Amino acid sequence: MKIISLLLICCTLTLAACDSEPRARQAKFYAFGTEIGVSLYDVDKETANNTIDILEQTFSNVNNTWHAWQPSTLTRINEAIASKQAIAIEQDVAQLISLASSLAKDSQHLFNPAAGKLFELWGFHQDNWFESRPPPSAEDINNWLASNPTMADIDIENGKLTSTNPAVKLGFGGFAKGYAVDQAIAALQQQGISDAIVNIGGDLRAIGSHGKRPWIVGIRHPRQEGILASIALKGDESVFTSGDYERFFLYEGKRYPHIIDPRTGYPADQAMSVTVLHSNASLADAAATALFVAGEDWPNMAAAMAIDHVMLVRSDGQIELSPKMVDRVQLINNRKPVIIRSAD
Ligand code: ADP
Ligand code: MG
Repeated sequence: MKIISLLLICCTLTLAACDSEPRARQAKFYAFGTEIGVSLYDVDKETANNTIDILEQTFSNVNNTWHAWQPSTLTRINEAIASKQAIAIEQDVAQLISLASSLAKDSQHLFNPAAGKLFELWGFHQDNWFESRPPPSAEDINNWLASNPTMADIDIENGKLTSTNPAVKLGFGGFAKGYAVDQAIAALQQQGISDAIVNIGGDLRAIGSHGKRPWIVGIRHPRQEGILASIALKGDESVFTSGDYERFFLYEGKRYPHIIDPRTGYPADQAMSVTVLHSNASLADAAATALFVAGEDWPNMAAAMAIDHVMLVRSDGQIELSPKMVDRVQLINNRKPVIIRSAD
């Protein structure tokens, strides 16, 4: 879990303190192979229970539609692309794919959800992704690089999707969680709920506040137990982290994490973690992945994606912040120094 709701920590460690704040309710369930945590403030029990049911449904819908390797709408689309066929798609499906295309374009295709074959080559699109195995052959990687699939190859017109490049294989692991969280928050707001956090395996979006005080979240240290920093959220904000420390496999003592640089075909290796703060969870999620790939060049990538708030932990452990993030993160033990970096 990358980001830990401090409120949840408080509840685990000091139950008495939470008893004196009975208006915050928490629930947990599982989806996307990870734990979803929902915190609701000032909501009665019945509304809370109904809301949790709706959220479970929302997450399960996104998961079932966009699962990259179990039969889903996405696997049907990928089969059509591979066999050079057009395929009819629903409007909500078109909407997510168009959003992915525009985020990919803004990121100069470092966020490349058309690179599903590459994620597959590396073994991350299977249930046993953590098992030790040799990396793909240089030949396979070079063939993939030569086929150069990007979201720019996809066309959607009159409800039909086509790809000019059969090497495109869509895989939305880089932003499906953000998309699901945005759907979940929309569902909460439809229920009239205005103070909540939806946390998916540590990435989250918060709305409103925890009564008179803000929601406060912790960002996990990429190499140690516990948190590196905390952030007091202002109303509607999402915090998404991409890191090299959760999904990776080991082979002959070397670590191969799951975020792949589409320019080289190999895992990106200039950062341990990148945290992005933005109101929109889909954008925050895609941007965290793109900035992780950009590595040293992250300030220019952040500018290209209209992201103002970034914290990056370099592979040497040094912390880099965007100018606007300086006022927002509270580093644990006032950890210094940090490097403040802006776009060229
Ligand atoms: P997490 O899901 O752990 O929060 P990310 O949001 O960074 O991490 O998503 C990583 C997933 O996205 C990978 O498992 C893979 O499916 C996919 N992915 C890997 N590299 C890229 C990339 N360059 N662009 C888009 N998606 C990627
Ligand atoms: Mg992401």
